[in-house]
Amino acid sequence: MSLSEPKPGAHLELLKSLSSAVPKGLKVERERRIFVNRNLRMDEIDLIGFDMDYTLALYNQKNLEGLSIKCTLDKLIKQRGYPEDILKLKYDPLFAVRGLVVDRKHGNIFKMDRYGHVGRVFHGKRPLGKEERHLLYRTERIRLSLPRYAWIDTLFALPEAVMYAAIIDFLEARGDKIHYSQLWQDIRDSIDEAHRDESMKRIIKANLSDYITRDPELAPTLHKFRSSGRRLFLLTNSAWDYTEAVMHYLLDGSLPTYTTWRSYFDIIIVSGAKPGFFTERKPFIEVDPATGASRGSLEEGAQFVRNRVYQGGNIQDFETAAGAGKDRVLYIGDHIYGDMLRAKKSSVWRTAMILQELELEIRQYERFKDRLNRLESLERQLLRDESDVSYQQLLLKEVQKLEGGGHDADLVEAAKREAKHRLDDLRASLKAVAEEMEAIEGEVDSAFNPYWGAIFREGAENSRFGQQVDDYACVYTSRVSNFLSYSPLRYFRSPRDHMPHELV
Ligand code: IMP
Ligand code: MG
Repeated sequence: MSLSEPKPGAHLELLKSLSSAVPKGLKVERERRIFVNRNLRMDEIDLIGFDMDYTLALYNQKNLEGLSIKCTLDKLIKQRGYPEDILKLKYDPLFAVRGLVVDRKHGNIFKMDRYGHVGRVFHGKRPLGKEERHLLYRTERIRLSLPRYAWIDTLFALPEAVMYAAIIDFLEARGDKIHYSQLWQDIRDSIDEAHRDESMKRIIKANLSDYITRDPELAPTLHKFRSSGRRLFLLTNSAWDYTEAVMHYLLDGSLPTYTTWRSYFDIIIVSGAKPGFFTERKPFIEVDPATGASRGSLEEGAQFVRNRVYQGGNIQDFETAAGAGKDRVLYIGDHIYGDMLRAKKSSVWRTAMILQELELEIRQYERFKDRLNRLESLERQLLRDESDVSYQQLLLKEVQKLEGGGHDADLVEAAKREAKHRLDDLRASLKAVAEEMEAIEGEVDSAFNPYWGAIFREGAENSRFGQQVDDYACVYTSRVSNFLSYSPLRYFRSPRDHMPHELV
């Protein structure tokens, strides 16, 4: 047994205290639940992997966004010649949510529903009207794979949309002609550099408590998994020095049985370069934890060694070196593309997605439960009324055709009056329904997000982002420590194992 492995017997002690963490029969509060898209039997999982940033490490979004914006603006001004006045703009953090799409050609940002229909659209921070939206995005199918579109798919990327909109408004107000695509590229390159050249990470490392929230339940959660016989691994895109600083802050000193954060994990992989990790064939390089220097690549067919640190690598070699059944791996991450979609498309790994936004969204769903139910019944009524109006219009036309056709004029007149009367009633009802819906939608949307509404919905549908979570995450939850409330052998069952026609 290596020095840093937990002492035997200590597990039992801890397990006893953990089993009392959630009293039997007590329901887990909704915000902290694990939601299931596809059945997941934890007793069939041997190896549990964790992403680090925004998964194990929960960031203080407001502070991190502030820092990203500061570092990016600095580069825009000093390296790309943008005016210093952009420092004075108001960068409203509410203006971005995950799942938005940037149209680099027109300088617009929009949210889509699961069918690819464009819902809300903003140019700068000005919402586009129905006609403009229609003209730009409803006349042909949108091909998001084109370079014209960029996708805001991680919490790290939210400030990019915030800066894009604010700078467009600023430059347009000055009367400047903007090359929207270039502006996007400049922001993208600048923030990318800020992540890579240490300008952000140096500040985060020096002030970890300002940027990262320590979750006291994280260490017990990892311990609970380990105590149930699971092996754990870390697979992060962050480099070794940053990983070491963040993980030290998150876990060291939490449980006496673990000498360092590294003892919680059987395999540690940094600079994983996801999504390339799932699609390419980069070798694993062992790094010296003391210096970060390379110790050479992992030999073909060799197994990972506990307490060592590896960098790079790929999923095929991982499966050999970890010695785990391919479908007995659960990977927990926050990035819909790099962690969930790629893992799902390139492997048979099971996936759990961490959605930091979920707790607030669930609180709002609870708060507005009655109004959301009302909205749903109004939506159904609206559709009914609309088809009734069309039908009455048709009837009216038929009656009008009878006029002067040798029929009893009084009877025709009475039928016409009746049809018009019904049409008026229906139109009034339709108007009232539409107005009530608009009022409720306005109120509910602004409680979620004044610009974009709920992250997981667009109009009456799942948003495209919501649908992706549905498609690629077997389970999802707001933070890793939510697993603490469940048995490590839990059979997570999806509530939806029926097709619509099977429901009685
Ligand atoms: P992970 O979530 O643990 O895999 O790590 C994410 C890493 O990606 C962090 O080190 C981030 O700083 C880094 N990162 C996020 N966005 C960018 C970017 O735009 N360019 C380069 N690195 C990024
Ligand atoms: Mg992450």
